[in-house]
Amino acid sequence: MHGHVVRTERLTPGLVRVVLGGPGLDGLVMPDGTDAYVNVAIPPAGAPYGPVFDPAEVRETQPAELWPARRRYTVRRWDAAAGELTLDFVVHGASGAAGPWAAAAALGDVLVFTGPSGGYRPDPEAAWHLMVGDESALPAIAASLEALPAGARAVVRLVCDGPEHEVELASPADLDLAWLHRAGADTDGSLLLESLRSLELPAGRVHAFVHGEADEIRSIRRHLLAERGLERADMSCSPYWRRTMTDEAWRQVKREYVAAMEADVA
Ligand SMILES: Cc1cc2nc3c(=O)[nH]c(=O)nc-3n(C[C@H](O)[C@H](O)[C@H](O)COP(=O)(O)OP(=O)(O)OC[C@H]3O[C@@H](n4cnc5c(N)ncnc54)[C@H](O)[C@@H]3O)c2cc1C
Repeated sequence: MHGHVVRTERLTPGLVRVVLGGPGLDGLVMPDGTDAYVNVAIPPAGAPYGPVFDPAEVRETQPAELWPARRRYTVRRWDAAAGELTLDFVVHGASGAAGPWAAAAALGDVLVFTGPSGGYRPDPEAAWHLMVGDESALPAIAASLEALPAGARAVVRLVCDGPEHEVELASPADLDLAWLHRAGADTDGSLLLESLRSLELPAGRVHAFVHGEADEIRSIRRHLLAERGLERADMSCSPYWRRTMTDEAWRQVKREYVAAMEADVA
């Protein structure tokens, strides 16, 4: 599938919204999850194919250095009536493929992708919801909060670079929401964990969504399962990216990393 950029919006200094439209989205079927994601394919500069292409065919016919970079991005919103797909990209400097693509995205640009797929949706039977993450998890958390019914209760802890990086979050639910701000210090990576350590958990069964940077997520998972007694089945938890690694490097070690993470608290 592919979409044409119909508009972009700088949500914060570090977050760019890209809205895709056009006939390349015809037939898009959304899974039930509020964390649904697409696997975008960004060709290297000067690629001798495109702008619309079949990623599988490119892999078969082109040398590896011309293959598109594959990256996963959450569907922030799918407006079936308007045929518009909204993705929110973290822009984290000049490095990478997807961040720079989004920062430079202009009307008419094409984005090829496969998917969407995904699985988490806040469980209506849960007594309360816990949502924890960084900017990369913000689209899924924002979509999940919108999907909660009135009267639901959600505790939300998010980390970002400062007040100007916060976004408005709308939800019919009762929110206990706190933004944590990185200070450029060694302790930045444990801000989310420390905020949870001091949190008095509401009573009853929680359904938790914990996603973001790998090492941060791993320590939070360990805390929630080993020290707070959450059930594994009540937790959607996966590392979306890894500090200091490109997504290509991360994907090479991710399976092993996730196995070790799961063995932390089996
Ligand atoms: C299921 C799923 C859904 C995701 N949804 C989203 C989403 O909706 N929005 C989103 O922005 N990301 C999302 N991500 C994370 C995104 O795929 C990764 O952050 C990806 O590595 C970004 O690619 P890139 O080409 O910009 O940078 P890369 O080439 O992968 O990395 C270049 C450098 O930037 C660093 N880097 C990568 N991501 C970040 C970041 N978020 N903050 C700071 N530094 C970073 C890397 O460690 C590396 O040093 C999702 C990931 C998964 C698995």
